[in-house]
Amino acid sequence: RAKARGRDRSALFDEAMRAEATRLLDLEADLRRAIINNAFEPYFQPIVRLADGAVVGHEALLRWNHDLRGPLLPAEFIGVGEDSGLIEQVDWLMYAHVVRWLGTRADGYVSINVSPRHFHSDDFAERLLRLLDDAGADPRRLRIELTEVALLDDAPRVLRMLNILRGRGVLALLDDFGTGFSALSYLHRFPIQSLKIDQSFVAGLDGETRAESLALVRAILALAGTLGIDTIGEGVETEQQRHTLLQLGCQYGQGFLYGHPRPAD
Ligand code: C2E
Ligand code: MG
Ligand code: MG
Ligand code: MG
Repeated sequence: RAKARGRDRSALFDEAMRAEATRLLDLEADLRRAIINNAFEPYFQPIVRLADGAVVGHEALLRWNHDLRGPLLPAEFIGVGEDSGLIEQVDWLMYAHVVRWLGTRADGYVSINVSPRHFHSDDFAERLLRLLDDAGADPRRLRIELTEVALLDDAPRVLRMLNILRGRGVLALLDDFGTGFSALSYLHRFPIQSLKIDQSFVAGLDGETRAESLALVRAILALAGTLGIDTIGEGVETEQQRHTLLQLGCQYGQGFLYGHPRPAD
């Protein structure tokens, strides 16, 4: 009986695997069609100075206006986009939108999220600068958000690209800081303007894990201070989180307390 049960279970498992594989293939085909139709749109979320709430910039966040399923969040499709390599095409469509939007606003910067995959191609920096130039947009108003994975991937190449971009005024932000490898020794070698403190640490500033989160955020802020890098707290949802971050010396914040991501208009 144990054997029969084992067989049933493995049949169920095979069935689930097949269903999941089919779902991913469908999603990939869907994503290819969406690229052809340019079904992507940036939503924008304000980044504020914690001391007075002044808006200093916005982060552009990718949404897929799916015909049947409405605007989809990146979590639903970014994995497939990364695995298939399609994310690069999606990102370029997205960046074109963002650069156009930049021209319609008088002030502040906009940051875009850059998949580590872009650093596998040699011309990312040149292509981004060309996009800005073609739109007549000021490169100093665009920032790129990278994750630590991107820095570790191929350090010399990434450094070269960051320097090209920085030469034209495109600054780099390190996203989700504290969740990756946090290879601190790398940090001072890259031209990084800001660390974005991952929202898990900010969320922890309320509630049971407060002591631990305080210690971690303090350590991150001390590190950033030493390196002369400014800091943005991500996922600020409560007044207490805002207050604590500010007291600890974090300059900027972003989160539902200030505004949800919204379409351009
Ligand atoms: P991220 O860059 O760390 O973006 C922050 C995420 O936190 C966003 O999720 C945002 O909507 C969410 N968020 C902002 N404030 C709050 C808050 O107060 N509370 C909570 N719980 N969440 C908050 P979103 O828009 O779903 O994006 C998820 C991730 O998808 C992003 O994380 C980024 O890694 C990736 N992504 C977004 N846009 C792009 C893009 O254009 N290209 C690429 N390659 N990746 C993107
Ligand atoms: Mg980001
Ligand atoms: Mg983040
Ligand atoms: Mg994230």
